[in-house]
Amino acid sequence: METAKVVIIGSGPAGFSAAIYTSRAMLKPVLFGGLKSGGQLMNTTEVENYAGFSEGIMGPDLMMSMRKQAEKFGTVIKDQYVTAVDLSARPFKIWTNLPNGQDPEDFANKATPEEMQASQEAIKQNEPAILAESLIISTGAAPILLNVPGEHEFFARGVSACAVCDAAFFKEKIVYVIGGGDSAMEDATALTKFATEVHIVHRRDKFRASKVMVERVLNNPKIKVHWNSSLKEILGHKVVEKVKLIEDGREVEYPTQGVFLAIGHKPMNDIFKGQLLIDDHGYVVTRQSATAQGVELAKTSLSEQGLVQFPSMTSVEGVFAAGDGVDVRYKQAITAAGQGCAASLDAERWLEDQD
Ligand code: NAP
Repeated sequence: METAKVVIIGSGPAGFSAAIYTSRAMLKPVLFGGLKSGGQLMNTTEVENYAGFSEGIMGPDLMMSMRKQAEKFGTVIKDQYVTAVDLSARPFKIWTNLPNGQDPEDFANKATPEEMQASQEAIKQNEPAILAESLIISTGAAPILLNVPGEHEFFARGVSACAVCDAAFFKEKIVYVIGGGDSAMEDATALTKFATEVHIVHRRDKFRASKVMVERVLNNPKIKVHWNSSLKEILGHKVVEKVKLIEDGREVEYPTQGVFLAIGHKPMNDIFKGQLLIDDHGYVVTRQSATAQGVELAKTSLSEQGLVQFPSMTSVEGVFAAGDGVDVRYKQAITAAGQGCAASLDAERWLEDQD
């Protein structure tokens, strides 16, 4: 059975950047990219904030270019989902098969943690697809969607899950932000720099966001809050034109050009649960995570000079993590790419120490 020095799981900016660095370091990485290579940027249109593209670049073009660059230096890319891992001993075991008849898309996107657990028992009865001396997890996160009519149809045509990425497209427009957490507050505030009116739709009469962010929102004259309200439908022709809300039990339609979903993200880390440290929100904890658990991990890995060794390493020696599946705060393509680079350098140096 093949043993790779580095296996990378995930094909977003973090995964491909890790692949570019590890392949240029002659580590012959194998990257499992899922059936739909490219991650979240495959669902976007123009990316204007990725350094190096002064005229902007379409999200799918950026991802295809990263893939080509990784392949150019020898990364072996497998367009398959990883369905199970065993991180209890090195080399790590990695499976890609599924129990008979199970649809890979359903497994990756719709299976509950319980269903995934049950499938994994069956999967692990088979031979692993590959063994890995080190592993870089870059499985990313998916924005949580509301599943209302129009949401899918108008995604990237007025509907967005990233205000940092898309706010500048809404100059002098009216926009709606859905949610009541820190993301919704941050998105609404960012949007006020461009939009003429920003509406927040929240299902309760109290925000869960931090006090300072809530105050900033409530004191901003451009922001109006629709308390005890929910989004029922997004309407339009080719682009978003209206939202239908339920307010005080009544359906009301308002004109708008943009709808920002800010009800949280789901890190795609279910296959690692129980095998390494994952925080309460589902993010993999590394030695540089800004959490109490991350600080604890960092303390146990201080060098003689007091520096944290291999900051991107998880609670399992030899397993590194990068990108949106680790990062609760920034969630940008460029920060994910930077973290992928850091994880690959950590993996390379850690592998050297093992020889
Ligand atoms: P979050 O804290 O989970 O908040 C999600 C919000 O969306 C909640 O207000 C929730 O309503 C609402 N919501 C969830 N499902 C919904 C549904 N089906 N329909 C309508 N509303 C729904 O998510 P987040 O704001 O993305 O934050 C996630 C983590 O990142 C938090 O720990 C946060 O502090 C952190 N974060 C930090 C920063 C920062 O420090 N700069 C920025 C962003 C995020 P309820 O309140 O009713 O549950």
